[in-house]
Amino acid sequence: MQLHNYIDGQWVEAIKKGQREIINPFNQEIIASAAEGTKEDTEKAIAAARRAFDNGEWVNTPASERGEIVRQIGEKIQANVEELARLETLDTGKTIEESRGDMNDIANVFFYFAGLADKDGGELIESPIPDSTSKVVREPIGVCGQITPWNYPLLQAAWKLAPALAAGNTLIMKPSEITPLTTVKVFELFEEIGVPAGVANLVLGTGAEVGAPLSESTDVDLVSFTGGIETGKTIMRSASVNVKKIALELGGKNPNIVFTDADFDTAVDQALNAVYFHGGQVCSAGSRLLVEESIHDQFVEELVKRASRIKLGNGFDEATESGPLISQEHRAKVERYIDIGLEEGATLAVGGKRPNDAELQDGFFFLPTIFTNCTADMRIVQEEIFGPVLTVEAFRTADEAIEKANDTIYGLAGAVFTNDIDKAEYVSRKLRMGTVWINDFHPYFAQAPWGGYKQSGFGRELGKIGLEEYTEVKHVFRNTNPQPVGWFN
Ligand code: NAD
Repeated sequence: MQLHNYIDGQWVEAIKKGQREIINPFNQEIIASAAEGTKEDTEKAIAAARRAFDNGEWVNTPASERGEIVRQIGEKIQANVEELARLETLDTGKTIEESRGDMNDIANVFFYFAGLADKDGGELIESPIPDSTSKVVREPIGVCGQITPWNYPLLQAAWKLAPALAAGNTLIMKPSEITPLTTVKVFELFEEIGVPAGVANLVLGTGAEVGAPLSESTDVDLVSFTGGIETGKTIMRSASVNVKKIALELGGKNPNIVFTDADFDTAVDQALNAVYFHGGQVCSAGSRLLVEESIHDQFVEELVKRASRIKLGNGFDEATESGPLISQEHRAKVERYIDIGLEEGATLAVGGKRPNDAELQDGFFFLPTIFTNCTADMRIVQEEIFGPVLTVEAFRTADEAIEKANDTIYGLAGAVFTNDIDKAEYVSRKLRMGTVWINDFHPYFAQAPWGGYKQSGFGRELGKIGLEEYTEVKHVFRNTNPQPVGWFN
């Protein structure tokens, strides 16, 4: 499979002819060769997006027609769920069932923003000045740079592509260099539908060669980024060159608070899903378990039993519950955190190493891991590991749980399990996070906003606000009876 850049309506090689091998993390087989874009390709794509925005064709297309095109993208995705899911599993190693779920969610994201495209007709304001009208309208921001991570390749791209197009912007998408397959496929669908040339451009390549020039360009009006906190900080600095708008969806170290009065079996099962879904490579993974002291030992015992039974394997095998980690480097990072946890004095209750199974040796597998006896000052409790590693702390009161839950630089998501609704409401009010789940973990959908407090970023994706992020607000005042002002003689 050969993957190209898509610039100004054309599939093109990288200008410097660079190529990158894309590998399957389950067996390290080469599954594609991708164009390796550089600054030159990025500048060409930015120029195309700039022209397409400034010529006004897309911006001036009636919002209902833009919505119709976005809806057709959703339909094409629905019609291609199996192929897209196959590519996503090949590229990321995640289970095919999860990939199918992602693709259906992605189609819904396009349908949701398609429906929103023509709903905001502006607002008339009651002007305090006689003989005047005053209205507030939303307009597209302009040229958008969009940069995505490898863990949910097409899902994260869809959260950016659908609202940007619906709102009338033009864009340059840069997927993670590790997992570009499904994003390329979706640009093929854009072409089939007839998204006008230059409106949506795709440049493959690294952060240094493509992401950095995008965020540094003075011709780009907004950068929407999903990825790690350090990259987010770099983008924030680069964006200052032209005070471009930015939206940052960064990492998380998400607490999962379990009270004694929660349903025990449900809470155990959900805690397992919270941390080990997709090998813990989820920004909202419930990687910090806070459990009430009176059930701590019993809860950990059950979790350890269940974690050690998780079936690792090939994402295409229906029996597989979790696939490999994304890369050699990423597994090495997770392994370093195991050493750190042991040095810090945490107790390794299960996992902490690679599996022995012969059939898993070619993949980047790592066993579901639990550290107990953890304390708030430990790096394994404070830092995002982004792998199948759970830290467990005990608490005595709701306020102690809240204090521990809020005690990191992150604020993406968190959950509370209890059958006491007043306690659930109290805790949910006190958590400094963009999403709080009560008696559940992980649900997200197109209708509800997603994003972080604190260093988990700012700006929101999805929901009505997810469209508004791609708009500027303009106030238009009209004097209906113009007269000289008479201030100056
Ligand atoms: P990353 O920051 O390494 O890379 C993300 C993207 O940024 C990639 O496309 C990369 O090529 C690009 N990039 C790298 N350096 C760049 C630079 N200097 N300028 C511009 N772009 C650059 O992150 P990752 O390892 O791909 O993804 C994992 C991270 O993403 C985790 O921290 C995870 O929590 C976060 N994430 C957050 C959300 C969310 O919704 N908040 C969702 C998914 C992932």
